[in-house]
Amino acid sequence: MSEIIEKVRMISGKNIYLCYQCGMCSASCPMAQYMDVLPHQIIRLLQLGNPDVVNVKSIWICVSCMTCVDRCPRRVDPGVIFEALRLITLRKGIDKIRYRDLRDISEAPSMALVAISRKMTG
Ligand code: SF4
Repeated sequence: MSEIIEKVRMISGKNIYLCYQCGMCSASCPMAQYMDVLPHQIIRLLQLGNPDVVNVKSIWICVSCMTCVDRCPRRVDPGVIFEALRLITLRKGIDKIRYRDLRDISEAPSMALVAISRKMTG
């Protein structure tokens, strides 16, 4: 088992091999249009043990609404796995989002602001 798969399994407690690529997570994700790699594709990259999966922008676009967790028929729970992927980066002391870099947040949904806060190390 590759290192990235083992790390995600330890942090999330989820079994990525249960995913059968139905695409329900991507179809129901409200942020999918902004993502570079769709949720079901991220799970597939993980299944293949691709260590570059931590570099996809989508895991930072995710607002942790957990719609994918609600819809996934296999309890793979992509949103939980994305949180694990973010933690792997954050534990290296790397922040991907900074408040000072945000421009106009007045029209951002409150869930997005909460999600941003959860994605920061300090
Ligand atoms: Fe895989 Fe679940 Fe997404 Fe379907 S909804 S592609 S089973 S992670």
